[in-house]
Amino acid sequence: MTEAPKGRWIVETLYEKEGFTCAFRADKVFHEENTAEQNLVIFENALFGRMMALDGITQVTERDEFIYHEMMTHVPILAHGRVRRVLIIGGGDGGILREVLRHKKVDKVTMVEIDPAVTDFCKKQLPKISDGAFDDPRLDLVFADGAKFVEETTEKYDVIIVDSTDPIGPGEVLFRESFYRAASGVLTPGGVIVTQNGVPFMQGSELKATMEKFRRLFKEATCYLATIPTYVGGPMAMGWGTDDATLTSLPLEEIERRFAEEGFATRYYTPEVHKAAFALPRYVLDCVAP
Ligand code: SAM
Repeated sequence: MTEAPKGRWIVETLYEKEGFTCAFRADKVFHEENTAEQNLVIFENALFGRMMALDGITQVTERDEFIYHEMMTHVPILAHGRVRRVLIIGGGDGGILREVLRHKKVDKVTMVEIDPAVTDFCKKQLPKISDGAFDDPRLDLVFADGAKFVEETTEKYDVIIVDSTDPIGPGEVLFRESFYRAASGVLTPGGVIVTQNGVPFMQGSELKATMEKFRRLFKEATCYLATIPTYVGGPMAMGWGTDDATLTSLPLEEIERRFAEEGFATRYYTPEVHKAAFALPRYVLDCVAP
């Protein structure tokens, strides 16, 4: 046993019930409040830079956010190949938005975030994450419940990116079959939905539950993986639903051609990583397959 480390430590609560936790030293707390939706804290950590936790669960850090944001965005957009309209559900920090807007052919992005305080404080305290994306004229920013929005909208989207919290608090509705069904109804033919589905080693039942629902709604229901250091416990699963199964198994040369045409640089995403991300270890396949 060692002595408790000095300073204020922000304890990650996601797996507390299961008997696991980790903690980040808060060298400086920039903002902390109970918003109308959740507890929000933005603080500085020596290893991960500025970071945000909602209801005690790490959401985003300056140091490793590029992995999650690039993989949640470029995989569906490049796989689809003709994306003009994107719907982001959640995503209040603006990281997904930043990556979506790098695609020149995208002419409209609707982002539906439930908690204006997240966007407001991320703009002020974590500006590197959105990097000016909130000022882009292609953005339509809506503050509403994403589940209600997809029930009511008459618009259609080529790609939907669900950058949600875990299925606790306001994010819980974004894991229900009724939400996935309504979302599938606002996709254009051959459109793709991707979802934040947690770390299967730690949250396998969550992935399994989403995949069961996806199988009832989409011809192709699977997930792909990316390793994000602050989402501990192994690779994170990104749920993938589409009626166009060819998008999942595009030849590498075609992904390379599309990426080269876009002409932007990435730090994690490469066409090879894109292709390989759909290769699933057995314990993950067991969550995906019936
Ligand atoms: N990448 C993170 C993770 O997995 O830890 C999640 C990112 S964070 C930007 C997720 C966002 O979803 C938060 O800003 C939260 O306010 C928003 N959110 C939660 N429930 C929502 C709902 N029902 N509708 C829209 N946004 C929601």
